[in-house]
Amino acid sequence: MDTYDSSLAPRFSQHLAQREAELRAVLRANDHLPDEASGVDSGEVVDFKDVAAQQSRATLAEAKVDHAAHELELVLAAQRRLADGSYGRCLDCCEAIDLRRLTALPASPCCTACQAIHEHERPPATRRRSLYPQVS
Ligand SMILES: [Zn+2]
Repeated sequence: MDTYDSSLAPRFSQHLAQREAELRAVLRANDHLPDEASGVDSGEVVDFKDVAAQQSRATLAEAKVDHAAHELELVLAAQRRLADGSYGRCLDCCEAIDLRRLTALPASPCCTACQAIHEHERPPATRRRSLYPQVS
């Protein structure tokens, strides 16, 4: 497997900077996010279909912004790792990350195996609680 080495830093730095710019543009474009949904409480008579459409648009935009904000964090963290020389290693297991993965996802903080574990772990936060109820 090919792995990252510091000679590739300029290339990845450029990738990350470009992605950062794209994400910032998304966040800027959605900065003035409509508070349209708040009109619902103003006592006006509104068409519920309009409200629903408006809300789902707002929700969609919010989800996009959330996603962009999260990815931007990953990109900034990757830039820090690039600067401090720890880039290209999995944050979880410290193994080198496959270069193909880094090329596809330059901001990726961990290797494919660890990522798979994370994705597996994420949902049950609430489920676990009900499976193992707290004894008081
Ligand atoms: Zn790993």
